[in-house]
Amino acid sequence: MAQNGTTENGLPQSPIPPPLPQPCKISEIKYTKIFINNEWHSSLKGKTFPTFNPATGVKICEIEEADKADIDKAVEAAKAAGKRGSSWRRMDVSSRGRLLHKLADLMERDRSLLATMETMDTGKPFLQSFFVDLDGSIKTLRYYAGWADKVHGKTMPVDDNFMCFTKHEPVGVCGAIIPWNFPLLMFVWKVAPALCCGNTVVIKPAEQTPLTALYTGALLKEAGFPPGVVNIVPGFGPTAGAAIASHMGIDKVAFTGSMEVGQLIKEAAAKSNLKRVTLELGGKNPCIVFADADLPLAVQEAQKGAFYNQGQCCTAASRVFVEESIYDDFLRLSIESAKKITVGDPMDPCTSHGPQIDRQQFDTILELVESGKKEGARLECGGYAVQDKALIIQPTIFSDVKDHMRLATEEIFGPVQCIMKFKSQEEVIERANNTHYGLAAAVFTRSVERAMRVSSELEAGTVWVNCYNALHAQAPFGGFKMSGNGRELGEYALAEYSEVKAITIKLNDQLTV
Ligand code: NAP
Ligand code: MG
Repeated sequence: MAQNGTTENGLPQSPIPPPLPQPCKISEIKYTKIFINNEWHSSLKGKTFPTFNPATGVKICEIEEADKADIDKAVEAAKAAGKRGSSWRRMDVSSRGRLLHKLADLMERDRSLLATMETMDTGKPFLQSFFVDLDGSIKTLRYYAGWADKVHGKTMPVDDNFMCFTKHEPVGVCGAIIPWNFPLLMFVWKVAPALCCGNTVVIKPAEQTPLTALYTGALLKEAGFPPGVVNIVPGFGPTAGAAIASHMGIDKVAFTGSMEVGQLIKEAAAKSNLKRVTLELGGKNPCIVFADADLPLAVQEAQKGAFYNQGQCCTAASRVFVEESIYDDFLRLSIESAKKITVGDPMDPCTSHGPQIDRQQFDTILELVESGKKEGARLECGGYAVQDKALIIQPTIFSDVKDHMRLATEEIFGPVQCIMKFKSQEEVIERANNTHYGLAAAVFTRSVERAMRVSSELEAGTVWVNCYNALHAQAPFGGFKMSGNGRELGEYALAEYSEVKAITIKLNDQLTV
């Protein structure tokens, strides 16, 4: 309990709230080249590509474009950095942890700059970049820093003539291909467990959002990671991404993005060297609100689930099932709340809803909105582009959405909340599971028994009860069914980045009885 004049942590209570963090002034983007061996390289083909600010449509800078030959170069560097006898392989494991902590320290030092850069490149509201993306990145680095000297094997009892134990060793060169919705966070989700387990990395940021990944290259070097341990190869999916997926020198690939590309990655892995594959491929996540739920809480959390990051989340709560008796109240409160969302310039710390990532995603979302109208769902609010503001879609709610409609079956990746009615627990579980996705789900109820029962029955890798998007570095994250393979985060991710070696020693000495 907080005492008078102190906070919960026992710190003195300040009468003045701390000032809100403010974006930095970035006059020039320093890191725009391919990062290999702790050095900045030009594209071997001499090509560059632009990255844009989605809020203004203005080009931020040109980035050196990695293609197959640059990927080959990065893989050579990663192989050399991880080979037997290299400084990285010989490094005391607790020093690996110290390096990850150092990287986290540097991200804390440059937090405002990284958050500003993330907002410039993605259009996500600055305070969300500052608090959520940076916080998640720093905590994930520290979490895996703690694991670096604890990844150990077991001793197996066999018979008295043998000693049998396991060692967990690095997989080798880990490729990573990441999306544009959480560029820095996804970079860290891939790189931190890989490095914790002693691997080396070749990582491709999304073409729309290369800036924070490249800046982190400079921080990795400053932290003291040996050359070649992490190599960053900005470029396009069908060229640089495909070269990673099919590379004979890459031992594992981790991918986050669309289901279609996930299938290509797995195919390329199978047809090349059968590299290990982990996939995180999005969802059509059900959010179930029972009549006994705390209604204002459920409205607020479901809305956070639908609109957070402009709806560009693999965990987006795009199917909200509401029990019949509270349906009208839930809908009314949701509409009132959606209309209050502050839409606008993402650099303004007061904004909580900015633009979509690019014109293509923007058009796809508005086309899905049109499909909803045509198929007979009821548009309650939003559904249009905000005038004079690049790529911003007003938070949108549809009611009377039916399970067969495109709104209820396709991943929207935009700020569209689809509200549906249900009558019974059995019915809603059946409907919630009736999808080939299985990433996340949420249940709102005051009954512990119901929360336990429903969370057990839902086919999803993550189930939130009375909350939404509550992600932690300690908890595994990944999908059932076609939402993916494998798990990121938590102790579970360590297995994805380690090979298990069983060593059996014959004991030749005579048994003395
Ligand atoms: P995407 O095409 O799957 O892109 C994700 C990453 O894969 C990017 O780095 C992309 O490179 C790369 N890529 C594309 N084609 C590739 C290929 N043939 N081989 C290897 N890598 C390849 O996703 P998107 O175009 O950004 O978005 C499309 C849809 O994907 C969204 O509407 C959404 O439904 C889904 N999505 C899901 C997530 C998620 O978190 N699960 C995140 C983003 C998008 P480029 O830089 O060239 O694109
Ligand atoms: Mg951009």
